Amino acid sequence: MSDSPIRVRIAPSPTGSPHVGTAYIALYNYCFAKAGGGSFILRIEDTDQSRSKPEYETMILDALRWTGLQWDEGPDVGGDYGPYRQSERTDIYREHAQTLIDNGHAYKCFCTEERLNALREAQRQAGGNMGYDGHCATLSAEEIKAQEDAGTPFTVRMQVPREGQLVVNDTLRGDITFDLATIDHQILLKSDGFPTYHLANVVDDHLMKITHVLRGEEWLPSLPKHVLLYQYFGWEPTQVIHLPLLRNADGSKLSKRKNPTSILYYRDMGIIPEALVNFLGNMAYSQPDGSEIFALEKMVADFDIKRISLGGPIFDMDKLTWVN
Ligand code: GLU
Ligand code: ZN
Repeated sequence: MSDSPIRVRIAPSPTGSPHVGTAYIALYNYCFAKAGGGSFILRIEDTDQSRSKPEYETMILDALRWTGLQWDEGPDVGGDYGPYRQSERTDIYREHAQTLIDNGHAYKCFCTEERLNALREAQRQAGGNMGYDGHCATLSAEEIKAQEDAGTPFTVRMQVPREGQLVVNDTLRGDITFDLATIDHQILLKSDGFPTYHLANVVDDHLMKITHVLRGEEWLPSLPKHVLLYQYFGWEPTQVIHLPLLRNADGSKLSKRKNPTSILYYRDMGIIPEALVNFLGNMAYSQPDGSEIFALEKMVADFDIKRISLGGPIFDMDKLTWVN
């Protein structure tokens, strides 16, 4: 790992009302950054054109401002840039996809929806989901040219070595081993020219000089794809820290059906932001002095990432609203 100044980010997608999980992840990023004298960046990952909405982005910014977990770059803090918005950076992702194609680490996939559906159906009947079969990786230069000349729509997929393992270190979880054979030839660029999460996320983490990625454990399956991309670009990967998911009282993944999950719900019912932050602070972190009273400045003052525990933290709204 390098000695660059600590830079972390949260990267919410504006596809719904701001989720308490976003505040939870933001809180640990904030504490980690501030404890290390670093920066906490906000990046809006709005490349899914069908699901992203500007009004959700506005709600996310409002909700974060309300929590007091202020990000470090952009007009809120007197700067010109930030929060960053991926939809304004699509040229960058296209250039990077082209670099991967040029270096043989990615290829254009001209498969029709029909072929992909048939492939999925055949795999389902065979009792497995092996992902894309790599068909277009085997096209000859002439075949590719013919498709390009015909203007056939295409996606860009990443190459994955057929065998071998990838060992990735997570600060809290230690070394994690992934079998390359299980990794799909992930689509990096969609046929609308927009990147998928994987490409945009890796390119931005690198270009924005992010040193540590703290995010929810639901992103662990994406990790080997990201590490491969770092290798393909010849970049040093960020250190990763996957935080335990918030859970409903019955242990299932926190869901709207069992708990209101919008930050704005709690704000609008009169919960004070300090109470929500206190509550989220106790979710995965134990303070050195055993205290459960959790003020942001105090958590920042003695924050130690190793004090995060991986057991499933229960987000029980009754306890939070009782505090109120
Ligand atoms: N856009 C992803 C999300 O919505 C970001 C995940 C990450 O932090 O890498 O949570
Ligand atoms: Zn294909």
